Order: sequence, then structure tokens, then C-alpha cells
Amino acid sequence: MKIIAFLESLIITLSCFFGSVFNLPDKNVRTLIEDNGGMIYGVCHPNEQYDALKDAGLNWVRFDIPYPYNASGEISRSYLDFKSRCQGYADNGMRVMAVTPYPRDYVNIGGFNPAQDVERTKEIAVFLYNDLKDITGAFQITNEMGLATFTHPLSLEEAAVFIGVQLEAIDEAKKENNDSFPIGYNQANVSVSKELNSLLKPYLKYCDYVGIDLYIGVQTNDKASDYSKRIKKLYREVCKPIIVTEFGFWSNAGSKTEEEKKEILAHYGYSSEAEAVADGENFISKLPQQFRNTLFYEFPGQEEHWAELVFSAFSAHFYGQTSDNTLENVGFTPEGQAEFFRRVITEMQGLNCLAGMIIYCCQDMAICWTCGQSWCPIETKWGIFTIDGTPKPAYYAVKEVITGEK
Ligand SMILES: [Zn+2]
Repeated sequence: MKIIAFLESLIITLSCFFGSVFNLPDKNVRTLIEDNGGMIYGVCHPNEQYDALKDAGLNWVRFDIPYPYNASGEISRSYLDFKSRCQGYADNGMRVMAVTPYPRDYVNIGGFNPAQDVERTKEIAVFLYNDLKDITGAFQITNEMGLATFTHPLSLEEAAVFIGVQLEAIDEAKKENNDSFPIGYNQANVSVSKELNSLLKPYLKYCDYVGIDLYIGVQTNDKASDYSKRIKKLYREVCKPIIVTEFGFWSNAGSKTEEEKKEILAHYGYSSEAEAVADGENFISKLPQQFRNTLFYEFPGQEEHWAELVFSAFSAHFYGQTSDNTLENVGFTPEGQAEFFRRVITEMQGLNCLAGMIIYCCQDMAICWTCGQSWCPIETKWGIFTIDGTPKPAYYAVKEVITGEK
């Protein structure tokens, strides 16, 4: 029996290896696509412009499921609000890739370590599945484990258990319902992802897909073909249909001139960084609350260094500047963003191991959630719609490459 199991896994590994080299069709990918009404195309942090999204071929949206209970153990208000949003998409013929809660929610709200009390974790996973399967479309079990902020307070080993037991419990519930509801997990494109995938190997049998968030060509000089290379590499590792759960490009970013940087300092009342640092606590008090929160969470108890940290660790946020390196030298402009999606979506559409791609993100944000400043593009300029909901050139480019219509 052991030899048969070994031969089976060898055949699967070899088929994915050759499948990735020669871009061969994969039955599991085709089934996933057929079961879900075609290739999964979606957006993260969606707005409610159902028709505009569907016109562009974006029939999926992706957002987080809040922890379902409050501290007293009752169903939480935010969870009920989440459900009514999902119902809105369902009523409009759209599907939700729902991201199950982060480990910190189980610790902070539920009051337990979800990798240790696995029975409770499984119970919550099955509750979410039963409660949401008819108004969503798929689950992604938590998000980007391996990235410190999201994994906290679990270790990578615990994070793998946290994901694995949820996959296992939902898979069992699916079997009872004879249901093909897709479940999987995702990873950031970081060095520990290989380790995460290897820790999750025993649970891969429960996955309908494996996801990856890719930001290739955003502050790096890469090519559209590097998307294919990275996706094929993951496919060889996990031998499962792949979904790109996030990818995107800024419509406005890049380096700032000395003049522009001086203007930002002047906005806070200083003529140089040294002057701001010398003003210490007073300087920090002038920053947006969001910026102070970030300093508080990332450098607790180090208040005396915060002013210096603003100009070292957080310099990019303070000035709202990024590297000028981009994908094939496409610029961080609205037209450049459109060109990025044209090239990258077309590139990925050619991959037989891919079942879906979800754009990060739907709409621009008013302020950066790290620094609270409106001029910082780092968390504000990813949208294919502007802040007031107007489609950007990227929206029309996405529509054209997905639907073939202008
Ligand atoms: Zn920022």
C-alpha cells in the first residue's frame, strides 16, 4: 500500500512538473473553472457598483470575514453587516471570495490560541461555512500567513496548524453536503512561503486551490513573464490549481523631488528633518492619529526614537514616495496602471495552471492606513476606480482584456 501511495504522489508531482514546463492542461483547474462559471476574475475591497464591475467581467469580489462573535460570545454586529454586504453581491449575481478571520481575532476577541484549541477553531470554521456558503462563492482561509503583521501572535508552525485544521473541518462538512464550494489558502510572495507550503503539505488534499499575492514589477524592474514564472513555481510546489488572490499597480507613485519633500516638511511647520527630530514629542503630536498608532504598534515603548523613525523606517510613508522601478518601465501613472493590467492579465490568461486572478484593488482610498496621509500613494492609489467611484483608465483596460469589449 505504501508503494502505491508513493507512486501515486510521484505521478502527481511529475505531472505538475511537466505540466508547468509545457503548460499542459490540468483537469482540476478546468473543473474548478467550469464549476464556477468560468475563470475567476475579481477585485479586492469592492465598492457596490455591481453593474460596472460585471460589465468589466469582474464577477467576483474579495474581502475579509470579521470574527463572527463579540467578546460576550454573541454574533457580532460587524459579522451581520458583512453578511448583508455578501447578500447584496449574491442578489446581483456576483460571488464573494471570503477571507476567514486572522489569528489575532481569535486571541483578542475569542480569548484563545486558535492553533492550540483546535476544536474551537474547527467549530468556528464549520459555522462560517454553513452560514455563508449560499451567499459567498469560495473561502480563503485567513490571509498571507508568514507575513509577520498578519501571522501575529502565532509562529509559522502554528499558523500552518491554524489553516490546516480549518481546511480539514470544512472539507468534512462539504462532504456531508456533497458540495464543491472551493476552499484554499494564500501566501504573500515572501521567502517563508516555501516553508509554509511545506508545513501545509498534510492538508493540501483538502484544498481546491492555493493562492498567491503577487506584486512583481511594483518597485522592482521585472517583466510580465515573471508573473508566469512565479505562478508555475508555486504550481510545482503544491500541485493544485492556482489563484492569484492579489495583484496590482499604483496609478500614482514614484520618487519625490527635494522641492516636494520640503513642501511636506513645511506642511508640518519645519524647514529640515533635523528641526523636526529636535522638536521630538511636539513633532509626533502633529502627525495624523493613524501614523501615531503605527508607531505605537510597531515600536512600543520607544517614544524617544519615534521622531527619528519617521525619517528612517517610515521615510517612504512620510514623504509618500516609492521607488521608480516598475514592470517593463511602465510608469506609475493612470495610463501606466492600465498598461500594467493589459500586459499582466494577458500574460496570466495563457497559464493552464491558473483558475483565477483578483485585482488589488477596486477603489482608491482617502488616506494611507499606515501613515494616515492623503498624499501617500502606498495604500491609496491601487484602485481601478478613483475615490469618488469614477472608472480609471485601468478599469477600461481590464474590461478590454477580460471581455474583449472596449
Ligand atoms: Zn503611507
